[in-house]
Amino acid sequence: MRIKAWNGSSLRAWAVDVTDVLNMMPEYPAPFSHLVMGGALLAGMLPPDERLNLQIVSDGVLGGALVDADASGMVRASMRPGEGKILDGRGPWGQGTLSVLRTKPYQAVPYRGSVALETGFFTQDLIHYIVQSEQIPSALVLGAKVGCLVQVIPGAEDFLVEDRLGDVLKQETPLGMLTALGCTQVLEEVPLYFACTCSQEKADALVAQFGSDDGPVTCEFCGTSYLKTHS
Ligand SMILES: [Zn+2]
Repeated sequence: MRIKAWNGSSLRAWAVDVTDVLNMMPEYPAPFSHLVMGGALLAGMLPPDERLNLQIVSDGVLGGALVDADASGMVRASMRPGEGKILDGRGPWGQGTLSVLRTKPYQAVPYRGSVALETGFFTQDLIHYIVQSEQIPSALVLGAKVGCLVQVIPGAEDFLVEDRLGDVLKQETPLGMLTALGCTQVLEEVPLYFACTCSQEKADALVAQFGSDDGPVTCEFCGTSYLKTHS
């Protein structure tokens, strides 16, 4: 579930519970839930017909991630381990780039924004991206299965959102997080769902483009395996 709410004056916020989405996925190591939450929160800011694709390419113990999400509540994610080690003071992603591609139907050139990973920790690096691209004070809290993104509305930049984050962190539900921020006026509520767009045709196209040994092609998002079609 994703809820968008505001406090009537200075703050707007999005909060998500990704339990249902995680339950629909084949398996999910711990950092994975943060990717799903981050994508679902970011997608809450999109106009209804847009879709986003968040990508991390990095050299840490985690090596890459791909998250697709849209305003309707769809989210899917995949991640892959890296070959690096944890460096002093840096998070598991190490060094690399976080990019976000936003696509609209019928738009030839998608919007693309990108930042270098500052810390190697997903939460900090994602909020760094959000502040860079939106240019307004924002904060991000990601728990085990609930998370919250809060922005100070332009004109109210003096509001110190950090003061309230301690309370937000203690909450176990999206509504609890929003209430802790004082954002009790709900603007939108959408169920989140996992949906994959893979198909035999796409698997065949991949094999045609990149070649493959004779083994099956496995979708990195949902784990479905497609056998090579012999024609
Ligand atoms: Zn799939």
